[in-house]
Order: sequence, then structure tokens, then C-alpha cells
Amino acid sequence: MTRSYTPVIGLEIHVQLATATKLFCACPTGYIGVVPNSNVCPVCLGLPGTLPVPNARAVEFTLRTALALGCSVQRGTRFHRKNYFYPDLPKAYQISQYDLPLGLGGSLDVRTDGAVHRIRITRVHMEEDAGKLVHACGDGRLSGADHSLADYNRAGIPLMEIVSEPDIRTPREAREYVAELRRLVRCLDVSDGDMESGSLRVDANISVKCSDGRWGSKVEIKNMNSLRALERALDFEIVRQTAVLEKGETVFQETRHWDDVSGHTRSSRSKEEAHDYRYFPDPDLPPLFFEESWVTSIAATLPELPWMRRERYASTFGLSGDDVGVFLEDRCLAEYFDALVSAGVTPSRAANWIRTEVLRVLNEVGGGMAAFPVAAVELASLLAAVERRELSVTAAREVFDAMRKENLSFEKASRRCGIASGNLGENALKDLLQSVLEENADVVTEIRSGGDVKGKKIRFLQGLVMRKARGQANPESVLQFLEDMLRGEQ
Ligand SMILES: [Zn+2]
Repeated sequence: MTRSYTPVIGLEIHVQLATATKLFCACPTGYIGVVPNSNVCPVCLGLPGTLPVPNARAVEFTLRTALALGCSVQRGTRFHRKNYFYPDLPKAYQISQYDLPLGLGGSLDVRTDGAVHRIRITRVHMEEDAGKLVHACGDGRLSGADHSLADYNRAGIPLMEIVSEPDIRTPREAREYVAELRRLVRCLDVSDGDMESGSLRVDANISVKCSDGRWGSKVEIKNMNSLRALERALDFEIVRQTAVLEKGETVFQETRHWDDVSGHTRSSRSKEEAHDYRYFPDPDLPPLFFEESWVTSIAATLPELPWMRRERYASTFGLSGDDVGVFLEDRCLAEYFDALVSAGVTPSRAANWIRTEVLRVLNEVGGGMAAFPVAAVELASLLAAVERRELSVTAAREVFDAMRKENLSFEKASRRCGIASGNLGENALKDLLQSVLEENADVVTEIRSGGDVKGKKIRFLQGLVMRKARGQANPESVLQFLEDMLRGEQ
């Protein structure tokens, strides 16, 4: 009988919380592009005699996430010291949560290939981030560094750690799990969830179980800073560990780093160096107890979560998976879509217009939906005119451009463009038609001699008229007039 191998994957995700200040002091949290060691104070440097004060906002953000994941929330919690010496951690201990995390249990449903798989969440807790080391050479080069510089701007920034049970079976599932968590933290406004800048960091634990009962040791993979890197790293590890077991050898417990360039994981730390953290309650931080009413009020203000929105968009509006995907990545965009629909625009037209026109403008000018100048109700008026066929799509785009460039209402923008929907008089329209027919006598002859079976030529004439009318004509009536005129002169 041939042996089969099943990957067993669990993920630990660190999410940088979007608070203005650090977890235990008032230093600002922004550290990208900031002068090293400029956002530090005696508290986050851990100088003797200083006292940490917990950031209530960070606690609230972690609670929001734990509640959204269906965790049971602890009524009380306390902080522990996790002791180890790293040069990027000036206190030589990290303040974290140990036996009483904020959230316990919970789950997240992951969709891959049309199937839904439930991943259980072990815990959600808070901890502070460490600083950052920059390895450098005398000449400034990083490779072959002869000394390291310590930047403590990141030390003390609040992190939320979300630990899953080893319920994930494929790299694809792992990727979708992280993507869904990222949608969640963005939707809850607790983090920007950006992997590239390090706001969302993933460590994976993976082992492979053989059908003959042998089980490889758990290997931890670090250093994956994109969803694609995560999937590739896990793919690589499954092949590597399976090959080891296939040869009858043993997979050792170790930490491996992912190298995105070579596409390999490489060993970086072995079991012998594993740390004993000697957790003990932080004597400087009193235990926290939450009023039940506070927890209830946070639960009551949770927004529509990504999976609820996905379900509503698919079942109520019949949106395609692609459309839903775009809206799930950006809550402001989704809210704009909702506003268009409640103003009477059909869901498919609203989705289509946002994905083409609105996203085009956002890509051009940047700044995201928050800075988008066209109010949903104004765009809805424009789209209603398109729906009533008073405005061609081309004319509508022109009006839309005026609306967003000059911050105009639909009415004002239409006047500015010289396009008032459906207001071309019948006589003016007939003059226009007449001139198009005269300019295209050859086409007219062909149509009259029965050479337009598929109706393509008459639509060509219709297009010419619409262009001349600059959108001020109803395409249906143009077609009707054209048919009448062509028939009438036969
Ligand atoms: Zn500080």
C-alpha cells in the first residue's frame, strides 16, 4: 500500500494595533521613516523606576477582535513578563499575556474551492513589540555586517497575537485564513493589516503526518511577508518534510526562515537553543477587570463582519465572487456601494461602476475612499439618468469626470459639460439624423437593399447619432427614428 502524507498547520499571527500611542507609554507608534530612537521614553526603554500604564484603546481593539472571532472573553486578565535576552528588547523581558489571554476559543471559517473549513482559534492576547536591529558594516553595507545598531522606536508598540489550532491542511487554506483575518482587522479598524510593512506578521507551525503512523516534529517557519510567500513556504516545507519521512529519516524540531528569492526555507535555530521564558506576573501592572457592560457595549458596536457582508452581497444582490472580493478588501468602498444601492441604483450597475470608474479615479489620485469627492447620492443621480437611457455611458463618464474634478453636483456637472439628459428637441434630433444619413449614403443604400440582416449597420448609424448628440438623446428613440426614416424613404 502506498503511504500518504497529511500536512498539519497552525498559524501564529501578530497584528500591530492601530493605536496612536504605545502599549504602556505615551510615545507615538509611527516608526516607519522616523529617525531611529526618537520615539522613545524611559518606560518603553525599560529604565529602572519607570511604571507602565496600559493603553485602554489597545485593550478595546483586542476585545473587539476576540468578540468578532467568537472567543470567550475573560472578565479579568493580567500581564506577564516573558523573560529572555535579546539586544532588541531593552528590558530583557517582554510584557505579554500568559495564562489569562483576553480571548479564548473562537473560530474562523475559511473558503477554498467552494468548500468551507472551520479553523479553531486557540487564543487572542496582547503583547508589546520589541525593537529592531539594523546590521551594518563600517561602509554602510548590510551583508557581512560587523556591527549592529539598535532602534527602539518599535519597542512597546501594541501587538495582538492570534493563535490558531493546527486545523489547517493546505497552504492554500493557510493563505485564505490569513487573508480573511486581514479583512477582519481592517473591517474592525483595529489595524491596517499591511504585511509588507510588518503590521501583520505570520509564523507557521507545520508538521507532516504519515499514514503509517509516523509523525514529523513541528517546524516553525518565519519571515514570510506576503500571502504568496506564506503559501510558497508551506508548499516547500511539505515537500521537504515528506521527502525526509519517505527516506525513513526524522524531521527535527527547529525554526526555519523563508528565503523568498531562492524559494527555500533554511534552518536558523535548533531545538537545543529553545528558550525557557520563565513567565511570571508583572509586578508593575495590576490585574485588569472588565465591567460586563463595557464588553457588551463593544459587542453591540461590531460592524457587519466580512463573512456577513460576503453572504449578504451574494444572496441579496447576486454579486459575483470577484465583485464581492473587491468590496471585502475595502470597507469604505463597500459602504459606498451600499449607499448607491439604497439610493436606487441596481446592484450590478453600482458594482460595475465602482470597479471601473471609481477605482480608476482612486488609482489616479490615491488617498483612498475617504478623500473621494463624489457623494454617493450624486453618483446615484447620474446612474439613474443612464438607467433611464437619457444619458449614454460615454456622456455619463464625461459628467462623472467633471463631478469629481470640480467637486460638482450631477446637475451642475451636466450643465458644465453642455449635456442635459434627454433634452434634445425632436426637430434638432431629426436634423442630426438627416445629416448622418447624408454623410453615410453608402451604408443607407446597403441597409435598404437588405444587406443588414444582423442589424449591425443600423447600430453603427445609431452610434454616430449618439456621438453627435453628445449623449443628449435617448438611444432607443434614435433607433426608432432611424428605422422610421429608412423605411419611410423606401
Ligand atoms: Zn515610550
